[in-house]
Amino acid sequence: MEIGWRGRALAAHMTGQDERCDMVPQQPEQDAERWQAVLSRDRGANGRFWYGVVTTGIYCRPHCPSRPRRENVRFFNTRESARVAGLRACKRCQPDKEHVHGKS
Ligand SMILES: [Zn+2]
Repeated sequence: MEIGWRGRALAAHMTGQDERCDMVPQQPEQDAERWQAVLSRDRGANGRFWYGVVTTGIYCRPHCPSRPRRENVRFFNTRESARVAGLRACKRCQPDKEHVHGKS
């Protein structure tokens, strides 16, 4: 006895099955903007967000010279959230240090 695709689709609809439950994705537009800042090493973006690289387990400032692959990057609003995610501070851009403005 086969229920058929119609029966399964109806069951999924009635139980409200939807894969988008836990990990709520951040706004894609904002992520695209942030990714552009990373690509252009936008120093103006420093302090506004941090990014983590899931493959290396580190997090960076937007201007870091490392060039991770887009699909391995996650964005964080605070460095704390990057740390909570289990990431370590990058040794090159030292995102755990306070950024000193007006000095280069
Ligand atoms: Zn870095």
